Amino acid sequence: DREQVISRQDTRESSARTYARTLTMVPVKARGMTITGADGRTYLDCLSGAGTLALGHNHPVVVEAVRRVIDDGAPWHSLDIATPQKDEFTDELFATLPRSLQEKGRIQFCGPAGTDAVEAALKLARTATGRQPVLAFTGAYHGMTAGALAISGGVSAKTPMAGVAAEGVRLPFPYEYRCPFGVGEGRTDALSAAYVERFLDDPNGGLVEPAAMIMEVVQGEGGVIPAPHAWMLAMRQITADRDIPLIVDEVQTGVGRTGTFWASQGAGIEPDVMVMSKAIGGTLPLAVIVYADHLDAWAPGAHAGTFRGTTLAMAAGAATLRHVRVEGLADRAAELGERIVGRLRALQAQQSCMGDVRGRGLMLGVEIVEPGSAPDAAGSRPAAPALALRIRQGCLSRGLIVELGGRHDAVVRLLPPLVMTDEECETVLERLSEAIAVAER
Ligand code: PMP
Repeated sequence: DREQVISRQDTRESSARTYARTLTMVPVKARGMTITGADGRTYLDCLSGAGTLALGHNHPVVVEAVRRVIDDGAPWHSLDIATPQKDEFTDELFATLPRSLQEKGRIQFCGPAGTDAVEAALKLARTATGRQPVLAFTGAYHGMTAGALAISGGVSAKTPMAGVAAEGVRLPFPYEYRCPFGVGEGRTDALSAAYVERFLDDPNGGLVEPAAMIMEVVQGEGGVIPAPHAWMLAMRQITADRDIPLIVDEVQTGVGRTGTFWASQGAGIEPDVMVMSKAIGGTLPLAVIVYADHLDAWAPGAHAGTFRGTTLAMAAGAATLRHVRVEGLADRAAELGERIVGRLRALQAQQSCMGDVRGRGLMLGVEIVEPGSAPDAAGSRPAAPALALRIRQGCLSRGLIVELGGRHDAVVRLLPPLVMTDEECETVLERLSEAIAVAER
């Protein structure tokens, strides 16, 4: 039973586990955004496999696509050999891309995980430019492999290993709520952009010419921090002017989550390289990069990975991409996100612990701060991780799964599936509001 499963996993599994430490439920069934636990209780899932489940659990179009591959007896694994499923997936993916990549982009299938695609993007840029350092941002999260760790900000417990950070150069990400230079519309992003420009042009900056800049449009693990659109336009301009390939990591922000199909489209920028995983495989592991053809400088056979030919994931992914596009689910995510942000901002007036409510589309966060604390000169208040944890537990006991993230694990993160109904949205808001009110009391 449930207790036995939990205690066996407690004794056998690594102490590096994350979710299992605090989400003490054993899921046995799932449909849409509802998970049923072994104890028969149901939960609304606002974690969605860390943003993987754009269409929720067991969506009929995904199940049908997987079933078709099995019924047809198609090969489940094809390395990088052409298959009808791969062709269909690529067509569906390219139909969603910005114009320049749609017309002249190349795709590399990478391996099962987002971090594999990040590594491929770094290798691609380094091969094409012959340069080594990569410009990355504070608070970034790009994965668990060595190259990805070297450009991540070391968010929460996912600590970078000693020694790997040398190849990544961190620049300040425009974190509006915790800007040390004071508040004001556009202030953080203007300052951050000016800093980046100054740093790159300083002859004594200590930087060898960079191979790439990599960024998330909305930092996810870093605490749901949307980059202002003006800042992203500035980064696009700065990198274009200096011939630095711009890599946008859309692993978490992609497939409609932030209210446009890709988050970079929302900002009106066209990256040189897009990194994609999570939702593109329709819940099955799949990761790719798409990049401008002028970067395609690597030799034939230069990049590989055993799991880059997973037919089931390509079929599930093609079905997901099509469904999100045809059903306009990015617009739906934008609409639901606005509703949730509006309601949570209204609640901020009554709940002193809600320091900041932010997000884009259905990638949402509430930064939990010490109730009653005064704002500092920058307008931000001290993070309250213990209270955030109580809120998460309160959500769980009310049948709502949320996650924590950010600098002090004090940001309550919501990543509901794009298929969330109006009624489910109301229930999420009710349960979250109640959990916040009770925890703060
Ligand atoms: N990039 C971003 C922006 C992510 O959010 C994540 C995972 N949370 C990754 C990369 C790494 O993906 P994976 O865990 O599949 O390796």
